[in-house]
Amino acid sequence: MSVTEAFAPGAIAKKPLVANPDLFTSKPSLIGLTRPQMAKALHEKGVPEKQLRMRVNQLWHWLYIRGVSDFDAMTNVAKDMREMLKEHFTIARPEIVEEQISNDGTRKWLLRFPSRGAGRPVEIETVYIPEEGRGTLCISSQVGCTLTCSFCHTGTQKLVRNLTAEEILSQLLLARDRLGDFPGADTPPGAFVPTGDRKVTNIVMMGMGEPLYNFDSVKTALLIATDGDGLSLSKRRVTLSTSGVVPEIYRTGEEIGVMLAISLHAVRDELRDMLVPINKKYPLKELLDACRAYPSLSNARRITFEYVMLKDVNDSLEDAKLMVQLLKGIPAKINLIPFNPWPGTNYQCSDWATIEKFADFINAAGYASPIRTPRGRDILAACGQLKSESERMRKTERLAFEAMMIAGHGEDDD
Ligand code: SAH
Ligand code: SF4
Repeated sequence: MSVTEAFAPGAIAKKPLVANPDLFTSKPSLIGLTRPQMAKALHEKGVPEKQLRMRVNQLWHWLYIRGVSDFDAMTNVAKDMREMLKEHFTIARPEIVEEQISNDGTRKWLLRFPSRGAGRPVEIETVYIPEEGRGTLCISSQVGCTLTCSFCHTGTQKLVRNLTAEEILSQLLLARDRLGDFPGADTPPGAFVPTGDRKVTNIVMMGMGEPLYNFDSVKTALLIATDGDGLSLSKRRVTLSTSGVVPEIYRTGEEIGVMLAISLHAVRDELRDMLVPINKKYPLKELLDACRAYPSLSNARRITFEYVMLKDVNDSLEDAKLMVQLLKGIPAKINLIPFNPWPGTNYQCSDWATIEKFADFINAAGYASPIRTPRGRDILAACGQLKSESERMRKTERLAFEAMMIAGHGEDDD
């Protein structure tokens, strides 16, 4: 499909790409290793101790500043060293099974990761949302989810496995490849990207899975993504969303330091126990204590609370009042998300007027409470259409919904 066709209104470009044979190697990847891990891996293959620091810095530069995925591109690394690296390691990207580009510039990649010592090969989705002045990438941390939030489609799928740090980070590297977001690379003609230097300016850990149930790999990947000598994303532009794994919220603050989003969805324990069952383990009070203790919160660094609007379940003014009381003292913004129905769910999206009333109340109490609307379409149409069609969301609608969820996270200033 040509680029012009891909950008015809409503079009979605599907582009199965040819797999790189190097993908399926069982060689370990150098992507997603911390500096000490990389030094150890090189040392084990005979790189002398006194060279390790220099070699790691060299590789770090090529992998994360220049974005190369081929050892032969590392022109200042001696040929015999490159041969040694090729023999023992890989830096290949995952396979792109499908690339979709919607007419508003939203991109979605279906990626396949080989097993490479991490269990079975898996496929996951990564979504890119360009907006004026920012480009947000939504990254997955697990395939499936062990939690069973009753309104969430992912919650009905079994956990297949955790993604490795390599796989989490590769989603960012691949998106930057495809957008021409590394030095010297060209952005695809006709692509919609923000006007500044960078095409991916923000990351949200809001894809599949509960990131805090895969803490170590998520931590390693995010620390590499925010490393000032490499990919150097600002921590204020990285948002991690959790359903409320309280002990790891403390660790996130201490050990990762990115922005936090909480999937709140209910403000009474008995209701939250049903909607977000991890609440039985870590009830609201414990969750909000962890939020209050989150480091360096201020009006410029707020916690985002996600609240899905479920008709006659959590959408009363009483709930709005309780929310305001509950969040008192926490620098917060509240994202009201119209429920996105899926086949087999018993929930419905709240009426538009109810959502507006809810938002007005929270706004009047001093909280920013944007209602998330699918890009490029009117929310009423989307909700109504989904109700009447009910069975199946069309691909374009799914993409519009995902884009809506992802846009607008993280702060703009560095
Ligand atoms: N597991 C993490 C990260 C996923 S983020 C978490 O729960 O925070 C995805 C967001 O979409 C979460 O806030 C989730 O609660 C919300 N969500 C899931 N299913 C939804 C649906 N059908 N409609 C609207 N929001 C939904
Ligand atoms: Fe869905 Fe997040 Fe709940 Fe998992 S934790 S079931 S991804 S809402």
